[in-house]
Formats: sequence, structure tokens, C-alpha cells
Amino acid sequence: MDADSSTWAAAGMRHIWLPYTQMQTATPPLPVVRTQGSRIELADGRTLIDGVASWWTACHGYNHPHIAAAVQQQLADMPHVMFGGLVHEPALRLATRLAGCLGGGLERVFYTDSGSVAVEVAMKMAVQYWLNQGASGRTRFLAFRGGYHGDTLGTMAVCDPDEGMHTRFQGMLIGHDIVALPVDELAEAALDAYLARHAHGLAGILVEPLVQGAGGMLMHAPEVLQRLRRLADRHGLLLIFDEIFTGFGRTGTMFAFQQAGVWPDIITLSKALTGGTLPLAATVASRRIFDGFLSDDPGHALMHGPTFMGNALACAAANASLDLFEQAPRLAQVAAIETVLRERLAPLAALPWVADVRVLGAIGAVELRQIHDREALKRRFADAGVWIRPFGRIAYVTPAFTIAPEELDFLMDAMGKVLAQGQP
Ligand SMILES: *Cc1c(COP(=O)(O)O)cnc(C)c1O
Repeated sequence: MDADSSTWAAAGMRHIWLPYTQMQTATPPLPVVRTQGSRIELADGRTLIDGVASWWTACHGYNHPHIAAAVQQQLADMPHVMFGGLVHEPALRLATRLAGCLGGGLERVFYTDSGSVAVEVAMKMAVQYWLNQGASGRTRFLAFRGGYHGDTLGTMAVCDPDEGMHTRFQGMLIGHDIVALPVDELAEAALDAYLARHAHGLAGILVEPLVQGAGGMLMHAPEVLQRLRRLADRHGLLLIFDEIFTGFGRTGTMFAFQQAGVWPDIITLSKALTGGTLPLAATVASRRIFDGFLSDDPGHALMHGPTFMGNALACAAANASLDLFEQAPRLAQVAAIETVLRERLAPLAALPWVADVRVLGAIGAVELRQIHDREALKRRFADAGVWIRPFGRIAYVTPAFTIAPEELDFLMDAMGKVLAQGQP
């Protein structure tokens, strides 16, 4: 490490509090000085091939010039202006474009600045939708085992209560109905019977379509979403898709729900929305939900408004990211990545300590029977020249869609080599 970075790193590490980290025992994080494409340059001079795309956000790779130029232009014109009573082109243009690519009557965009808050807003919208209709007592949600929807108090309560990271908070969380996904017709019938008894207390059903991400990269068939749409309609519940992870091409289609051919009433988006550059999230509601807030009664309005709502820099970045989805063959790139992931990860299933290998779109997950030392495994990946951050029993890759074939090859070689070394 050069003198300058060892100075800021040593001084700053005494003052920083890192995410999901036992600060007493964790190995020190790796100081990064630069990114480019699918490469992360470390302060010690090493370069890692990035397998994570920074928590699934950097779908076009790092430092994409088109997004950089759009943000620079916006910075010169207007970095931010309050969204209460004022609007601007980047936010309105983005809303129009999001509604256009979502379809299905999802046409009202409410901006926030993080995924968790976008889910909170979706839950608030659903609960208040019923209150505005004069239906009280619909305050709970049906959510699913293996699910992850955020780290705030409201969203912790809809995560998997046992497998999730928030078990210790159970006592202060609102009790929701967390059940298994209806993966077959028998399970659908059981859930149907359950809802016949409990739907009157529920505002809606909340699910991550096709892949439950942070809960363990658990994948399910599109039919599951069709079942949930049927059940929601039959029992008069709102259906909320949390596409914060799956949205913007990650599963092979622009949005995961498109593989099921059913639409939600509300959808949440974030992560890849700005191509991994600036924090922004959106909760998009159907016309029916939005109309449920129209009234002569001011109390029927949605009382929510983050300070940095509709941030112009972030909206400019998101518009530039959507340009790239329109102009570049992103979904074809995802399909090509999927082919490589399937081919290269499948053999790992033969290792005795590997429980399962799962691939969908640009997501490749290897589930181990257990991981004794996640820190050591992460170090082994870094020593092999790649950035892969295992969690739970999962080692996964979610590369940028623009990763070069030789970089993906390198990533696969490293993953195979490290996992074959022995029980991690
Ligand atoms: C990451 C994630 C969230 C939370 O987003 P934050 O921006 O970290 O608050 C919510 N839902 C899903 C499906 C996610 O992957």
C-alpha cells in the first residue's frame, strides 16, 4: 500500500463502522482506489476481477462513460432540488420511461433513496389503500420464508424470521404471516385455505420474483408468481413484487415478473436502477392503487417524502442507464453469461461439500453444506484475484453484464479452483 492510502486507511479504520461486520474479529476490509469495467483496483496495487457488481448494482460495469457524462452534465445544471412543490426533467422523464418499460398499468412512480425505504413505502401504500377504502384492520402482509426485503424496522419484519439477519429483533417487530412459497398445486391449495381464514387481516402479498436474493439466492419457477397473482385476486389482496435485486435484466428479462406474464399492483426497484452509481429507489404503483388515494379528504394523501426524493443526479444516472439498456445488447449479454455460468458451475455440484448449484440469468450461486470460515474463504478468493463475498452458506457471482469473456473465464477458474481446494 502506498504511504497516502496506508495513512487514511489506518486513521479511518478507528472511526468507521462497517456493514454486517463483527468489528472485533473481522479481517480488515480491502482499501479500493479505483474501479473500471469489471475490475477493482486495490490500494496495494492488486487488481481483482469483480464477481459481485457491488451488491448487484453495477450492471454496465464500473465508470461507464455514458452514465458519467450524464451525471457530469446534471451536476453542472442542478445537482438537487427539493421535490416538495418542485419537479424537474430527469425525474419526470425517468418516471415516464419506467412506466413505459414496466407496462401492465404500473404507472405512478414514487422515488426514495434506498431499497428498504422503497419497500416501506410499498407497505405503507398498501395499508393506506385499504384505509382509504374504509377497510380497517388490514395491516399485516403475507411474505415468504427465504425472503429479504431490507434492514429497516418495517422491512426486517417481512424478512425470513429464522434464516434472516434480524432474529434478535423479533420481540419488537410487527408480526406478519411468513409462509413457504407455493411451489406446487398442493401448496397453493393449502395457502388458499389459509387465506380464506386470514386474508381479512392482510393488506397484501410481498415477494421477490424468481430469486430470493439476500435470503440465499433461492430460485423458484414463474408458476409460483402466477399462483400468487391468482391467490391475491381470489382473496382481494394487493400483490407487491420486490424487484430490487431482480430488476433491470439480472434474471434474463428486463424484470423477473415478465417471465411469469403476471403483473403486480406495486413494484419496488433500486439496486441496478442507476447502473450502480448513485442511490435511488422507486416504488411504482398501478393506476388502481393510485386512484385509491384520490379524494376530497386531505387525510387520504400519501404522507411520505424523503429529503433527497427524486435527486436529479441519481435520476440523470438512471436515465443514462436506461439508455444503455435500449442501445446495448444487455439481455443478450445476460443470456451469454447464463450459458457460461451453467457450463462452468455445474461440475462443482460433484464436490462433497457442495449442496447445490443454481443459475438464473447473470446469477450463479453455489450452496455449500456449510462454510466454517467465511472470512478465510473470501481471502482465498481475493488471493485468487477475484472479488467474491460469500454469505450464509452461499458463494455466488453476479457479474456486470459487460464482463469480458476472458474476465468471466478468469472468475470461473478462480471459483472452481478455490472451491475445489477443500471444505471451506
Ligand atoms: C437489497 C435489497 C433490499 C434493500 O435495499 P437497500 O437499498 O439495501 O435498503 C430490499 N429488497 C431486496 C430484494 C434487496 O435485494
